[in-house]
Amino acid sequence: MTDMKLTRKAYGKVNLFLSVGAKRDDGKHEVETVLCKVGVYDTVSVELTPNGGIALICDDPGVPTDGSNLAVKAALAYAEAARIELNCSIRIEKRIPVTAGMGGGSSDAAAVLIMLSELLGKLNQEQLLNIASSLGSDVPFFMYEDKAMVGRGSGDIMTPCVSNLDKLYGVFVMYGVKESTGKAYALLDEARGETALRSSDGVASALKNNDIHQLAREISNDFEMCSKHLAEVRSALDERGCFRSFLCGSGPTVCGLFIDESTASEAAEKLVYPTFLCEI
Ligand code: ATP
Repeated sequence: MTDMKLTRKAYGKVNLFLSVGAKRDDGKHEVETVLCKVGVYDTVSVELTPNGGIALICDDPGVPTDGSNLAVKAALAYAEAARIELNCSIRIEKRIPVTAGMGGGSSDAAAVLIMLSELLGKLNQEQLLNIASSLGSDVPFFMYEDKAMVGRGSGDIMTPCVSNLDKLYGVFVMYGVKESTGKAYALLDEARGETALRSSDGVASALKNNDIHQLAREISNDFEMCSKHLAEVRSALDERGCFRSFLCGSGPTVCGLFIDESTASEAAEKLVYPTFLCEI
């Protein structure tokens, strides 16, 4: 019998590099970014059902279960592109912190697209990637198995990036108020005007050569200039043995990188902010 139900891990991400360029005519900004999957994942399952339309349940009450959930949007977009009436039940066990800039919603959406494709086989890879990028600039990255990739265009045009990085530990400090991503871009434009894109080659070569000193020098995120609390969180992380900290995506979460697991877990425990620890 053909499978009716599939389950998949949907990993979170960090942006080790994020350069923002000009705003395009479609309202999106040109970016160059390096995305890297991290050790925390949601468990997402999709089961085809005889009727009932598209339903979603999630064990985290903070996550919407209606049509605003990106995983539901992904299923609807798949059905529309494949011209089918889709009945399925989506279940998400949420482990990726929500609104932490770790791409949880995007990763869930990609997992749903991949599983629907495996279950129904209606669309080719190009069609799936088009749907992914229509859902959000981070979704295409999660359609690939690669640990690290460079994103260009609005962040949705992916190129593999070899990573030989030894395991690191990230302490994610969830502090400050999340602005919508659109507002964060508008604030950045206001703060500095139009700026040329920078190259991510330095981060790519640090990942390839497993060179954490180079990585520490090359990590960067244009949104840091708008962060009101980065300096405070950074100095608290530094005091606890962090070797490099950076803003996650458009913020407000700050990630502190540690080489040693016990130092990282002590920092996560002792810092006065809400924290989340995972492997990078
Ligand atoms: P962004 O891509 O907007 O920077 P993020 O990575 O910071 O997002 P997410 O956990 O993806 O954070 O959640 C962003 C918002 O999307 C939340 O406010 C949440 O209500 C909504 N959302 C929609 N679908 C999901 C989902 N499957 N998982 C988590 N949040 C979702």
